[in-house]
Amino acid sequence: MTYALAVHGGAGTILKSRMTPELETAYHAGLARALEAGEAVLKQGGAALDAVTEAVCALEDEPLFNAARGAVFTAEGKQEMDAAIMDGANRRAGAVAGLFGPRNPIRAARAIMERTEHVMLIGDNALRIARDAGLPFEEAPYFFTQARWDALQETLQMRAKGAENDDPARRHGTVGAVACDTHGHVAAATSTGGMTAKAPGRVGDTPCIGAGSFADDASCAVSGTGHGEIFTRWTAAAEISARMRHLGETVEQAADFVVMNDLAPNDGSGGVIAVDAAGRIAMPFNCEGMYRGSVGSDLPLSTLIYR
Ligand code: ASP
Repeated sequence: MTYALAVHGGAGTILKSRMTPELETAYHAGLARALEAGEAVLKQGGAALDAVTEAVCALEDEPLFNAARGAVFTAEGKQEMDAAIMDGANRRAGAVAGLFGPRNPIRAARAIMERTEHVMLIGDNALRIARDAGLPFEEAPYFFTQARWDALQETLQMRAKGAENDDPARRHGTVGAVACDTHGHVAAATSTGGMTAKAPGRVGDTPCIGAGSFADDASCAVSGTGHGEIFTRWTAAAEISARMRHLGETVEQAADFVVMNDLAPNDGSGGVIAVDAAGRIAMPFNCEGMYRGSVGSDLPLSTLIYR
């Protein structure tokens, strides 16, 4: 029986010209830790849903990536986190948006899926469900990183001068995982702090099922990263699944088409990771890089940043 797992740490990579060897090593190590956490589940015959949960928690815990610890700041200097999880076996899904408090927002999304009849909750009730589920909470210092704070200041200063900060590493990032387990089930999980200097209350594509996250055994599991408004307007993740079901495309063809032909020409910089129920993986992106990695029963662990 085969299994496969892919992770991403966001398409907003540091420009190659600014990357240092130390940072590059740290990014690869962070991705590898997430792959190892997810693979430990899949190797024992565990569920894709558990594998993507563990992989995303590892990425959320790593301050280099824009999710949970290390999340970017809103224009008002707060952190508001979005996350979603979806089980391809039955299309059950859970999501949270604009959340602050749970150490792992992806576990909060999963609690919404498992403990309520709803898909997405926000605000105090989402926090209450996370607390009732016994999830650990953290205070502001845990989530804070100087690099994200500096990126906010720089973006606000540029904005005051009428310029847009279009350095992708400063602007966004996200983490995600997709998996296919030995039972042929797929799952997706995505978690983000959103975009630097976003408006308070802004919700991106990440927690929106069909936009930044999607999973269905009949087609594939998808986790996206990039310009969230465009992923949402083009329903990027659902479109990849629909192309497979209605046009008979492979996961690679469908993911490539949406990233290159739907998103790229419409200011939708970014990429996706996707896996089908046979364990085939696609990881297309239309920008300089995407922190990403994959591993499987027939696939050695590998991590990549640029093309
Ligand atoms: N898609 C995320 C958002 O718009 C950001 C990213 O993936 O870079 O919130």
